[in-house]
Amino acid sequence: MSKTWINKYSESNENHQAFIEIQNQCPLCGTDVEIEVERDNSLEIQAFKLKEQAFCPKCNTKTRQKEHSWH
Ligand SMILES: [Zn+2]
Repeated sequence: MSKTWINKYSESNENHQAFIEIQNQCPLCGTDVEIEVERDNSLEIQAFKLKEQAFCPKCNTKTRQKEHSWH
């Protein structure tokens, strides 16, 4: 059951976010990527969005960009 953390509920879980941050490495060079999380607090809570970007400082490329939203 080690993969049960990856579901639509855990994506909005703070512990899960931290887990991603620790685990994430560049698929090209293996360097730890820098995670940038943007929260848009200007919207109503119903439309709360979390924007997540992973950036490799070595390859100078974005390795991942995700947008989470929850209700
Ligand atoms: Zn890289």
